[in-house]
Amino acid sequence: MTRNDDKNNKTHDLIIIGSGPAGLSAALYAARADLHPLVLTGMMLYGQASTTDTIENYPGFPEGVGGGELGQLFQSQAERFGAEIVMDNVNAVDFNQRPFVIETYGQKLKAQTVIITTGATHKKLNIPGEIELTGKGVSYCGTCDGWFFKDKDISVVGGGDSALEEGLFLTRFAKSVTVIHRRDELRAGAILQKRAFANPKINFIWDSVVTEIIGDEGVEAIKIHNVKTGEDQEFPTEGVFVFIGHSPNSDLFEEQLSIDDNGYILTNKLLETSIPGVFAAGEVADPHFRQVITSAGMGAAAAIQATRYLEDLKGSE
Ligand code: NAP
Repeated sequence: MTRNDDKNNKTHDLIIIGSGPAGLSAALYAARADLHPLVLTGMMLYGQASTTDTIENYPGFPEGVGGGELGQLFQSQAERFGAEIVMDNVNAVDFNQRPFVIETYGQKLKAQTVIITTGATHKKLNIPGEIELTGKGVSYCGTCDGWFFKDKDISVVGGGDSALEEGLFLTRFAKSVTVIHRRDELRAGAILQKRAFANPKINFIWDSVVTEIIGDEGVEAIKIHNVKTGEDQEFPTEGVFVFIGHSPNSDLFEEQLSIDDNGYILTNKLLETSIPGVFAAGEVADPHFRQVITSAGMGAAAAIQATRYLEDLKGSE
């Protein structure tokens, strides 16, 4: 596809890259400040939260809310005040010239300020069989794929909130869910632990790592190594759900912004990156909290700061 310059060679006040809770909250705040923000959604509309069946800890929804539904609500609220939300994926940025240049598959766009909210992607185990059997029994999303595992014995790898939350969700379909964790203590929060221990369909294998996923047309078994006893066993299972954390989606920016050793974009308290006018919010810049509400809060703060930056810029012209 030919890349076209934006309509009338326009320079946007603000372009937001990403459409998760951080991106759409930034869009809401920026729209209400009359910046007419352009949101480039990326491949995953509404971000990782959209794959969560029920979000129970976002205030204002005492009965919980679906991840996709919350995303739609964020979108319509931002659009109501004038945000433009476009399904497009950014594949290059140039923060060394001003206005900044952002290239998508179809367009070359210009912006005075940018807020990066590209989120994070689930980590892989990087073991034999994982890639080959992805989509054939190996999955990273219970909400998306759970239905395919009706009455099956399946495994979940990980000991954090995602592993237990998704493991509990999967008990709606599966005959049994075995959680395999590399330590003898879970990282997940107390409420999820309590629910998981009380669920008769959930079993645990402690102190163990999965070293191989075995199967041909589908998952048949996994090899498990006990890190304390050194024992290896082959464990029959019909599905493997991997929830071992996330890596920030910052590759696109690593040449131009300061990034820490784990790939998180470095910002100060005002969500400013190493380049004035470029801000980052949500999981791509947050190794600490990584919650829907904290990402939404960071997005709002980044938009407030971008507004102030633009006011200073216009004041100095
Ligand atoms: P996480 O908190 O980083 O937990 C990852 C889990 O995977 C840990 O138990 C870790 O073990 C294990 N692990 C990491 N690498 C591994 C490997 N190579 N092999 C085997 N196990 C491995 O990730 P998460 O559960 O996806 O949660 C991410 C963030 O989202 C957290 O801040 C979490 O609180 C939040 N979240 C919240 C909710 C909620 O509030 N309802 C739901 C989902 C996620 P160790 O424990 O030994 O490190």
